[in-house]
Amino acid sequence: MADKAQKMAAIKAEIEALAESPLYEYRTTNGYQVVIGEGSPDAAILFIGEAPGKQEAKSGRPFVGTSGKMLDKLLEHIGLARGDVYITNVVKDRPPENRDPTKEEVELYTPFLTRQIDIIRPKVIATLGRFAMDYVFGLFDMAEQGEKISAMHGQVLKGQAAYGPVAVVPLYHPAVALYNAGQRDTLFEDFEALKAFI
Ligand code: URA
Repeated sequence: MADKAQKMAAIKAEIEALAESPLYEYRTTNGYQVVIGEGSPDAAILFIGEAPGKQEAKSGRPFVGTSGKMLDKLLEHIGLARGDVYITNVVKDRPPENRDPTKEEVELYTPFLTRQIDIIRPKVIATLGRFAMDYVFGLFDMAEQGEKISAMHGQVLKGQAAYGPVAVVPLYHPAVALYNAGQRDTLFEDFEALKAFI
């Protein structure tokens, strides 16, 4: 556990010093923080979102804004608290005006995410949104690569991580539930697939 915490702290320090990132100057000039993630490094369930928003970059914590409030409700729906899981993102710095991360940014930050997956060794990876889904499908060279999230959401898929087998559950991003009531219901239903891993 202490070892895992040390490894996570080392990842944070490396990203803080990542001056070659296109998001570095935006972070430092705005007084934003790197958001590496939080929760239990021994969690069975790992959630991966897209990138920090303004509230997250200000506080240094993932999913604390409006999407985060929705994530809290979804976790509660299946009897979990944030401390029971680990929550992180594909990109660890806030993209300006919450634009989508670029290919270059995804390529720069995902080696850190891969290291986090190997530290936590989760039983299941729940991806929140298409960026995380696409990354995890590619990382594990899954047959579902290139599929749309609308076809994949809520399914329990099989991945093979460096440390062994891992389930992959693609989910819609909690932000969609804020403006689409139908997708909100779908997200609550899809979360129930995670109950098998608790
Ligand atoms: N949206 C994300 O994808 N991640 C966060 O941490 C917050 C909002």
